[in-house]
Amino acid sequence: MKRTFSQLLLEWYKKHARELPWRQTKDPYKIWISEIMLQQTTVNAVIPYYERWIQKFPDINSLAQASEQSILKQWQGLGYYQRAKNIAKAAVVFRDEYKGKIPDEPELLKKVPGFGPYTVGAVLSIAFNKKYPIIDANVRRVIMRIRALTGFADTSQDKKILLYLEKQLPEKEMSSFNQALMELGALICKTKEPLCLLCPVKDFCQAYAEGIQEIIPQPKKKIIKELKVAVGILKNKGRYFIQQRPSKGLLGDLWEFPGGKVEKGESVETALKRELKEEIDISVKQAQHLLNVVHFYTQFKVHLHVYYCDADTYPLKTPRQKWVLPQELKQYPMPSGSAKIVDHLLKIDKIL
Ligand code: SF4
Repeated sequence: MKRTFSQLLLEWYKKHARELPWRQTKDPYKIWISEIMLQQTTVNAVIPYYERWIQKFPDINSLAQASEQSILKQWQGLGYYQRAKNIAKAAVVFRDEYKGKIPDEPELLKKVPGFGPYTVGAVLSIAFNKKYPIIDANVRRVIMRIRALTGFADTSQDKKILLYLEKQLPEKEMSSFNQALMELGALICKTKEPLCLLCPVKDFCQAYAEGIQEIIPQPKKKIIKELKVAVGILKNKGRYFIQQRPSKGLLGDLWEFPGGKVEKGESVETALKRELKEEIDISVKQAQHLLNVVHFYTQFKVHLHVYYCDADTYPLKTPRQKWVLPQELKQYPMPSGSAKIVDHLLKIDKIL
């Protein structure tokens, strides 16, 4: 008898699945954390974060007790910090309303912060083996090719993808089925040069049959914006000045050194003086260039031009501003670009 799509996929997965730390457990908490970390981030980048996280917060109760700042610190470098803030809120909900457990009912999960359709489906299927299809970037690409769906790989494709997936879902082994589809996308049905000859489901693949797999999905042109930012390092009595970004918006609640965007036609030094005056009402007398840092975010590339500033001391105006000792700097969650500045400051602190 001809084997089905799901049988072939599951057989392949049993033989070829990578041994990843979150695959060695059925603990819904650990699976939830790994799934959130894996959104927008590669497996290799996630592994050390996941392991450190589970060591620091081994269960929901330890996470629910932690401060948002220590959770953000643990997340530092993974980006999309709203995910960490939602994890913090969700842990409190699980502790207070579900006795420290993650419920296995979709209607309950949907009400928890950060549980959108993907996370609900991932937790229900992977941790509880429930029959829920999930669509991430890998699954979307695989099924678009299987069905020869043309166009961009975005959510406008998901209705057709779901229709197809619902017909393929196995009665058992839902946990492995969803992971197998994602694994197939990561290892075989790659964005560029898919390894079709090694593909367990090539006989089901319309794009392969038509030889059009390389042009599905249609590639999107990435528009990377470049930003030039002037950053001021203020030091007084051995302490550095840092401040917390507003809660809402990009990199919300993380800590950074003062500064801001260099406007068109403006020199970095002029921007530095203007920004520090506007932001914290400090007049910079002299500025000495310390270093440049380049950091990539998904949609833009930031060039940080960092200057050591000679300026009058600054009286703190809100609890979101602090003068901190060099050895304390690393306790504060910061965007990756600012964390690189801290590494440099710690090396040269004695001569500043
Ligand atoms: S045959 Fe090729 S294009 Fe089709 S699903 Fe397999 S790897 Fe992807």
